[in-house]
Amino acid sequence: MNAPTLAGLDRALSEARARYVAANPRSASQLAAADLAMPGGNTRSVLFYDPFPLAMSRGEGTFLWDADGHRYVDFLGEFTAGLYGHSSPVIRKAVIEALDDGINLGGHNLLEERLARMISERFPAMDKLRFTNSGTEANLMAIALAKAATARSRIMVFTGAYHGSVLTFGGSPSPVNVPHDFIIAPYNDVAEARRLIEAHRAELAAVLVEPMLGAGGCIPAEPGFLSALREATSEVGALLILDEVMTSRLSAGGRQRLLGIAPDLTTLGKYMGGGLSFGAFGGRDDLLALFDPRRPGALGHAGTFNNNVLSMAAGIAGLTELFTPQAAEALTARGDALRHRVNTLCAGRRATMQTTGLGSVMNVHFTSATIRRPEDAACDPRLRDLFFFDMVEEGIYLARRGLIALMLTIGEGEEDALMAAVERFLDRRAEWLAA
Ligand code: PMP
Repeated sequence: MNAPTLAGLDRALSEARARYVAANPRSASQLAAADLAMPGGNTRSVLFYDPFPLAMSRGEGTFLWDADGHRYVDFLGEFTAGLYGHSSPVIRKAVIEALDDGINLGGHNLLEERLARMISERFPAMDKLRFTNSGTEANLMAIALAKAATARSRIMVFTGAYHGSVLTFGGSPSPVNVPHDFIIAPYNDVAEARRLIEAHRAELAAVLVEPMLGAGGCIPAEPGFLSALREATSEVGALLILDEVMTSRLSAGGRQRLLGIAPDLTTLGKYMGGGLSFGAFGGRDDLLALFDPRRPGALGHAGTFNNNVLSMAAGIAGLTELFTPQAAEALTARGDALRHRVNTLCAGRRATMQTTGLGSVMNVHFTSATIRRPEDAACDPRLRDLFFFDMVEEGIYLARRGLIALMLTIGEGEEDALMAAVERFLDRRAEWLAA
């Protein structure tokens, strides 16, 4: 872009920000109040953005309302955890019934076995599993299990991966990451992954990989990449851990089921506890058996809320009544169709904009390059910001970084509203989206 065009983009962005500030005084004052007790008024880094994040006051069905009373179609779906929509009657009923029987029972309960069995039936590679409170914990436990089971120390991950708040591999090394001995390989690069696995064959405990980089921009793993990881890890006796925290929703049994890949361990999270806090890790019987407390020298895995009845009850209700295998298939088809619609619209306008992703989880990018790795998605961040402010003004809520995760409650009307908003964005901002 030439200098006057760039100056125009700066001006458009500052005007959009000014309208946002004027329209959202209560969100601004909410942040100021929160700042008195929390650093930057924030307790979840991903939710913060300049000049201040929207403070949401409530949700119902497909909609969210912010502190200033604006209504949004919720296309973020709580970063995939909100699959069931807000206050689904099925989830509400399950939670209320569980509440009626007391919530902190301090013992094995009657629900955990049901949810574990349901998940194991859907994910045949998960012979056995254990629950945690989050996807982060699930990955921490899976890594610890891999190290204990193989008596090896190194873990391979990929550039741009996100496996939890202390397991992030996008950009510069995170000082809050757990201090495992990581090997960081490029995503979707079969030859390099094979080379590194072979070079570290004696020390490699596991390869941990997302079947689609989620936080890294919804960049799908190429099927040949995942099958090469399966093959190469087996050859050297390392474990393959699939982080399906985001991708589990792509079918009844996640992306592993779609691709026919059986990992040694799988990690889950997000919607699977009905939208309440949840995580799980599981896999081969012989590996999970190391946690069997009846065995001498069993590995420990504690956690006050691992089997909390609210997540268990909501999870069972969700999988039984709402996210059936048919519903999973339909949602993935719906997401694929929506992504195709957006991409066809952008390509028709020759706009440097596209969505990547799989099924109902997608990310908007401002480039027309083919995106196989996070660096391919490099773009002018001002375009991303402008898109976000424009969508908010249109009553469409999505992540500031461009993530969209469809909830089961999203219908054709909402999808049409998104398409119309994208079309207006393409019209209004055409000069900065020209190739
Ligand atoms: N793995 C992946 C692929 C994720 O997307 C996330 C959350 N965005 C996590 C792990 C961590 O899950 P949680 O936020 O529940 O700790």
